[in-house]
Amino acid sequence: MHTIIFATNNEHKIKEIQSLVGNDFTIITLEQAGIDIDIPEPHDTLQENAYEKAITIEKITKQNCFSEDTGLEIEALNGEPGVKSARYAGGDRNFQANIDKVLEKLNGITNRKAQFRTVICLLWNKEVFYFEGICKGTIAETMHGGEGFGYDPIFIPEGASKSFAEMTMEEKNIYSHRQKAVTQLFTFLHSI
Ligand code: IMP
Repeated sequence: MHTIIFATNNEHKIKEIQSLVGNDFTIITLEQAGIDIDIPEPHDTLQENAYEKAITIEKITKQNCFSEDTGLEIEALNGEPGVKSARYAGGDRNFQANIDKVLEKLNGITNRKAQFRTVICLLWNKEVFYFEGICKGTIAETMHGGEGFGYDPIFIPEGASKSFAEMTMEEKNIYSHRQKAVTQLFTFLHSI
């Protein structure tokens, strides 16, 4: 059994990822590791932010860890909110304000194509590895459902007829960007 720290404070991400991990690995959250910091996300790419989070925690704990950074990339908005997804409408990570801003910007626009993209950075025995997961879909005209977090109420994944927020976590994981990246991560970890 290996243990690995997941460098996030986001409860939703922890639950989604824990449900995907087999019995060979135990995920330690920052809270369980006794670390109470708001990890910076200062960069212009998901990859750089993921690295920043992982290296910050690796320096503190001296343990193997991984982090992830996710963005919602909307075609008609030239990839916005992208790396700025968490604070799109301002500094306080307000999910509702972010959704309102997206719906306002897409008002009257027929191209609703979007994708979630997750980049995972793994620091394993001082080596750096990256994994990416993409979920294509569309942005709904209005909000639907009360599950999940972030932009889930307005994102309908390709192949589905309802939003992420209308799905159970298990259903969301069938389509999700995070599931695809995490599956690659654990396939890799099982192979080494
Ligand atoms: P982070 O910087 O990776 O924590 O995520 C950026 C923002 O993207 C979050 O604050 C959420 O608003 C949004 N986000 C990330 N993952 C998801 C998801 O799976 N569903 C909906 N929104 C998400």
